[in-house]
Amino acid sequence: MENVKSIMKKANKCLDCTKPACIVGCPLDNDIKGFIKCIKEENYKAAYNLLSKTTVLESICGRICPHEKQCQGACRKEIKKAPVKIGRLEEFIGDLAIKDNWKIRSKAEATHNVAVIGGGPAGLTCAAFLKKHGINVTIYEKHNYLGGLLSHGIPEFRLPKTITEKTVQRIIDLGIEVKYNETLGKTITIEQLEKKYDAIFIGIGANISNRMKIPGEKLKGVYGGNEILEYKRKIDYENKTVVVYGGGNVAMDTSRTLKKLGAKKVIVVYRKSEEEMPADKDEIKAAKEEGIEFLFNNNIIKIIGKNKVKSIELIKTHYKKSKDKLLLENIRDSKHKIGCDYVIKAIGSHANRRTMNSLNLKLTNNGRIKIDKKGNTSNKKVFAGGDAAGNIATVAWAARAGRNAAYTIIEYLNK
Ligand SMILES: Cc1cc2nc3c(=O)[nH]c(=O)nc-3n(C[C@H](O)[C@H](O)[C@H](O)COP(=O)(O)OP(=O)(O)OC[C@H]3O[C@@H](n4cnc5c(N)ncnc54)[C@H](O)[C@@H]3O)c2cc1C
Repeated sequence: MENVKSIMKKANKCLDCTKPACIVGCPLDNDIKGFIKCIKEENYKAAYNLLSKTTVLESICGRICPHEKQCQGACRKEIKKAPVKIGRLEEFIGDLAIKDNWKIRSKAEATHNVAVIGGGPAGLTCAAFLKKHGINVTIYEKHNYLGGLLSHGIPEFRLPKTITEKTVQRIIDLGIEVKYNETLGKTITIEQLEKKYDAIFIGIGANISNRMKIPGEKLKGVYGGNEILEYKRKIDYENKTVVVYGGGNVAMDTSRTLKKLGAKKVIVVYRKSEEEMPADKDEIKAAKEEGIEFLFNNNIIKIIGKNKVKSIELIKTHYKKSKDKLLLENIRDSKHKIGCDYVIKAIGSHANRRTMNSLNLKLTNNGRIKIDKKGNTSNKKVFAGGDAAGNIATVAWAARAGRNAAYTIIEYLNK
């Protein structure tokens, strides 16, 4: 844990703005100005109590939120490129709450029973806010552990497993029941749950790697980044060359993981420029420092091999002005090849189509659950949020969706 002196130095940088833009930048609407003021006054418990009004993931969000795009990006001091390190301050308070076992406040009496499907940030936050308001919650989770992408997506070197486990435990300790190894659409159905519970929240994520839709994609040695991280497939990377295709967090996390697992060479291929990569700048920097190579402005157009991957064919890209727009296009006669042993797809993800179709709910055009701003679905007893409902795919946005759906469920149950 960071020492108090350095935390105080960070907190004292806060200007205590009259209109704090940082709060507007935070998907969870955390009272950032308020909790930093409490830190300045050395009242850490009060800082925790303020934060826990809006979140149960302090230690996690403090570590892995894309702060530069959220709270810190909105901080007045960002103009001088020296924003208050809000993430570090939130992490400090969250870690203190774990260390000193500050309980999450809740009401004791149980009034209704709600099923939460999926134990990721959306499901866990929904469950916690329901239980805080005196509602019995049972989480149904397909794995034999909770946390979702916090446990099986974001690697240990960015988010220590012990932090996730302790955060999850504090939520479960509110008195939440968990049924592990239960898969919606397989071992349980919405119809069964509707009979048993007063309301249902679905937060099953969308963690299936998108296809590249190019020749050679079915060859042995082509994998999805999301699946590699989630199922920890036993693949021999020792002395191998791996190409990772994509420019987001999944591409960075997969490439860094595979390098640590012994790959000789890892090359990230991205179709646009470095400046346009959606991955966090810190992650790109760390990847470079760890020896990951980058090939920008290149599209993979073919994977070559007999039974397994031997090489890839690429084509270079550039922007071309068309009317008043800039369009990314392939450069003619710029094809080239790279030899490699594996190709990892990291170009986005989607929800399990079979599961989604089994829900009898209205879906969006990209196959996610259609919800309104409050988390209502087309079935009045069923609510949804997080990646499964197509929100902006970050932990804080998923948690916000879970928390807000919990309030909508409470409203529905009290009608
Ligand atoms: C590699 C990677 C790195 C990322 N890095 C960051 C980051 O640094 N910062 C950030 O803010 N965001 C990051 N994200 C995005 C973030 O993790 C997700 O947006 C967030 O976890 C979504 O939360 P969720 O609860 O909706 O879904 P998930 O976290 O996917 O959780 C869904 C849960 O539902 C369970 N489940 C799935 N199907 C079923 C079923 N049929 N029945 C029962 N249970 C089911 C799953 O096992 C899981 O526990 C990253 C994502 C990935 C893949």
